[in-house]
Amino acid sequence: MGLASAARRAAVPAQRGSRALWERRGTDRTAQIASTSALVVAPHADDETLGCAVTIMRKRAAGSRVRVLVVSDGAYSLDTAPHTHPELVALREQEARTAAGLLGVAAEDVSFGGLPDGGLAQRRDEVRALLERALAEERPEQLLVPVSCDGHPDHDAVSRVAAELVADLATQPGEPPVELLEYPVWMWTHWPFTSPAGGAGPAQRALGLPRRLSSPRPYLVSTAGHLEQKRAVVAAYKTQVEPYGGEVALSPAFLAHFLGPWEVLLPGGSMSHLGSHLGDHLGSSA
Ligand SMILES: [Zn+2]
Repeated sequence: MGLASAARRAAVPAQRGSRALWERRGTDRTAQIASTSALVVAPHADDETLGCAVTIMRKRAAGSRVRVLVVSDGAYSLDTAPHTHPELVALREQEARTAAGLLGVAAEDVSFGGLPDGGLAQRRDEVRALLERALAEERPEQLLVPVSCDGHPDHDAVSRVAAELVADLATQPGEPPVELLEYPVWMWTHWPFTSPAGGAGPAQRALGLPRRLSSPRPYLVSTAGHLEQKRAVVAAYKTQVEPYGGEVALSPAFLAHFLGPWEVLLPGGSMSHLGSHLGDHLGSSA
């Protein structure tokens, strides 16, 4: 076992404990979440399911509109995949449509930006244009995006663009308010060891731990009664959860972060005091 993997193993109990503590302090929004329409933005096909499957299912079951926008083409695993680039893009789109169907979202309510997987930080203008158009078409009450300190460059880019757009909308007279909610994906692999914004040494990170655990209060959506269906939707992403091109992109240990009693949503902007770079993060490099 190398030093890095030893550190990862040692960190797991602290990560589990901190998450449990954080969830205990959260606000249960299960009842309210169902009645609001939403645009769910996924940097990659599967993020919407990992972070928000039950949230989406509860909304759809209550008759609330949900649109899913997948920003990238999902073709990053091209080098190891047994398919050509266009085949892989088509396959991942098909998986996303299947998943959306299982979530109760109609095929016409899933759209694909087709931007290069892994390259969203370099294409912020195009990401902004995509989100702007979807928001204008949809006029959702809520906008769900990855958390600002998620640590994946594509996720962080989408999150920042969404925050800017919502802030801009708030300054325009006559525009109905859009509630920005942030869902963690990769954050679970480094939380609560996430660096403060701007980076920091180990001592500063340790000193900042109490603040990270005490703020903010997350919103919680109960997965009770929906967990088996969420498992089924996750399983629809065969290229991600089954061996594909020799490796499994999303390990069972990683998937376990999303199959607990709650889905966790953060009030928009509430994690902006934390950094968004991977740094020496404790999780997967995917
Ligand atoms: Zn992603």
